Amino acid sequence: MTYMVKCDSCGKKYVYESSPMIKDSLWKKISNEHREGDKWVSELFCLECMEKKLGRKITVADLGRYVSTYHNQEFLRRKQ
Ligand SMILES: [Zn+2]
Repeated sequence: MTYMVKCDSCGKKYVYESSPMIKDSLWKKISNEHREGDKWVSELFCLECMEKKLGRKITVADLGRYVSTYHNQEFLRRKQ
């Protein structure tokens, strides 16, 4: 099951699963994730914007403990 979301940086619609879930330390560098009351609020970025913000390509090593999550299967499949 895939679904379309909008990138908060470029405004482009993309397949949610095509953009990887990366290590918390990296995500904190490129996003403005913060708490609002009792929930976490975070932006969504497409793969191109994530790589632009990081200034490099995202590799499997950047997935950290999220490497085997369902979310990253699509990213890993496209990488091959
Ligand atoms: Zn984008």
